[in-house]
Amino acid sequence: MTDRALPCCESGVTLKIIPCHDHFSLIHSPMHTSLTFLSALKVHHTYLSQKATSSVSFSTHAHLKVRTCSSRADGPQIAVVGGGVVGLVSALRILQDIPTSKVVVIAEKFGSDTTSHGAAGVWGPYKMSNTDESLTNRLATETFDYLTDLFYSEDAVLAGISLVQSNYLCKDNDPPPTWYQSVFNLHPMSAKHLSLFPAEYKHGYVFGNVTCEGRYYLPYLSDKIKGTDRGTLIQARLPSLRALCSEFMTASGIPYELKFDAVVNCCGLGAAELVEDREVYPIRGQIIRVRAPWITHHYVAGDFYIIPNRNSVVLGGTGQVGNWSKNSSIQDRKHIFEGCCRLIPSIAQAEVLEEWVGLRPGRSSLRLEVEIMDVGEGGRKPVVHCYGHGGSGLTLAWGCGGDVVTMLKQSLQLL
Ligand SMILES: Cc1cc2nc3c(=O)[nH]c(=O)nc-3n(C[C@H](O)[C@H](O)[C@H](O)COP(=O)(O)OP(=O)(O)OC[C@H]3O[C@@H](n4cnc5c(N)ncnc54)[C@H](O)[C@@H]3O)c2cc1C
Repeated sequence: MTDRALPCCESGVTLKIIPCHDHFSLIHSPMHTSLTFLSALKVHHTYLSQKATSSVSFSTHAHLKVRTCSSRADGPQIAVVGGGVVGLVSALRILQDIPTSKVVVIAEKFGSDTTSHGAAGVWGPYKMSNTDESLTNRLATETFDYLTDLFYSEDAVLAGISLVQSNYLCKDNDPPPTWYQSVFNLHPMSAKHLSLFPAEYKHGYVFGNVTCEGRYYLPYLSDKIKGTDRGTLIQARLPSLRALCSEFMTASGIPYELKFDAVVNCCGLGAAELVEDREVYPIRGQIIRVRAPWITHHYVAGDFYIIPNRNSVVLGGTGQVGNWSKNSSIQDRKHIFEGCCRLIPSIAQAEVLEEWVGLRPGRSSLRLEVEIMDVGEGGRKPVVHCYGHGGSGLTLAWGCGGDVVTMLKQSLQLL
């Protein structure tokens, strides 16, 4: 008898049968695949594999029918750590693209306590350190295309999506960054338009852009996740990924029967502690929200930016590397106000609504990769790291979520 491959219709998995003296060896590769063997005597044997590759032997005298099915009726169970835009988008994309999955989002902070909530959410890669430019551009373009589609859907209001005109002012004659190709109707600013700004700005670009306001987008994502009936949000601080064990889960109200097949780590700046990543650092950003409904365009000039949001206009900003202070500073306020007033003098008339300081999750470069790690008591599991988005979390999140799904499918052999 020769080797033969046995296709298994339920899972699409092919089992390899290898004759060996007086027994067969069945080799299969998917993780967590339950094999049910039915012998001629109608004796049922169930074999549950936890390994990537494993084999089981049976007598050649048995007439075997082989059936595979997922060990979990509902598919893989995934823990997503982080309730900011990156964690929530990843969770939603997993639920959408792996229809049998269950996802538990575990985060110390949700909503207004996250950095993502405070961001004005204008699209545009910013403060990405040494992240590969082509990677940034691909992720940003996927996100731009998704957000603009969302704008032209009924969900635009709930999700906090608006279209804006962006005006980028430059002091020299640098060509526009390559990601400009993703946007709508990019063109150089006319001399007439340029003449309206301070003289040091020698040229500029104008294009159609999108904003995605964290304060609306996060609740929208949370509702979408919960609405699937396969997604749960749990507030808890995880001291390490090893802590993802029964004791922690019971204490945190996570159903004990959940045994995670994989973890997605979207903890932003929290990675400095959670996975002891020494390459993570804060980039402190202070902003002022003002009431200025007459300002409907977005402006960027060096450190300064003016971003129209739905109920306010955001003035910024600062980008202080290594500064962990979340207190607003009087000097920064003055710097931001004066800089923005030089661009649009009428801002001096605007009512100040609030000030906010957020710490952008800086890193030497974006971490988007799989690592096999000891997780809780379940042994070694795939952990997809997705953090270090600097000033671009809302700009990149949807694209990153797509890569997270691909990495999960590869790691769990669901492709
Ligand atoms: C002033 C300012 C303006 C900005 N403007 C823009 C903009 O216009 N456009 C743009 O694209 N980006 C902007 N950003 C950047 C953007 O806000 C970030 O890149 C983005 O919020 C990062 O998202 P995140 O989900 O990785 O992190 P976060 O929103 O910080 O979320 C991290 C999550 O991980 C959780 N967590 C961390 N550690 C643990 C742990 N041990 N256990 C459990 N949970 C944990 C936290 O509680 C939180 O839920 C701005 C940032 C600032 C500060």
